[in-house]
Amino acid sequence: MFPDYTFCCREFKKYGLELNKISYEKLEIYCDFLIEYNNYVNLTAITNPVDILYKHFIDSILLAEYGEISDEISLIDVGTGAGFPSVPLKIFMPEIKITLLDSLNKRIEFLKKLCNKLEIEAEFIHGRAEDISKMAEYREKFDVSCARAVANLSVLSELCLPFVSVGGRFIAMKGPNEDIASAAGAIEILGGTVSRETNYDLENEKRRIIQIKKISHTPTKYPRNSSQIKKKPL
Ligand code: SAM
Repeated sequence: MFPDYTFCCREFKKYGLELNKISYEKLEIYCDFLIEYNNYVNLTAITNPVDILYKHFIDSILLAEYGEISDEISLIDVGTGAGFPSVPLKIFMPEIKITLLDSLNKRIEFLKKLCNKLEIEAEFIHGRAEDISKMAEYREKFDVSCARAVANLSVLSELCLPFVSVGGRFIAMKGPNEDIASAAGAIEILGGTVSRETNYDLENEKRRIIQIKKISHTPTKYPRNSSQIKKKPL
């Protein structure tokens, strides 16, 4: 069972977050539906409601604080899976405009049903980031792109920076171990520069948010196709 409102408010407060009743009720519906759907479609390895609260919901919502997300931005979540981080963020900040992108259609189908249940608006895209960011309607059209647990920073930069308009940001949610310096060359080629790195703890686990500012257009030859990206990371 999802923890009660009092418990959740207290846990959110520990991270400097205020949880209202409307958002709480949506998170409860989200948790129940995720666990139920996960019985027949593989969405997450985390299935305990208390773990879902911390490792999916609070972790996602902390992007607002450490990723400096403001209301009314457009955000594309690349490799969103079961909706992390963008769906909890949208529950917490209803004004943001979210686009959910994943290469697995069964996850997109789950997200359509989930957002319908939660009565939240979102755009859904089934496809690979490498293909979708070449389309004029999505290229350099977002204030922010973000990704959690999809690939290393060099690969992610090639997948995520092409979506961002100049002046916008790509935000990567990472664990503590990745060597950011090794992605510096790729980030520069793709028109970005690391503008901020924030380290924090989530229930005694180390987390890191890396903000990359888009300072010039991404050259049109990027992203390359997935086999080239894999074979020869920038
Ligand atoms: N972001 C979610 C989270 O933190 O729980 C999901 C992470 S899951 C490990 C990675 C997701 O990225 C999968 O749902 C996979 O289908 C998707 N994915 C991987 N490569 C992709 C690509 N090139 N374009 C779009 N989606 C991709």
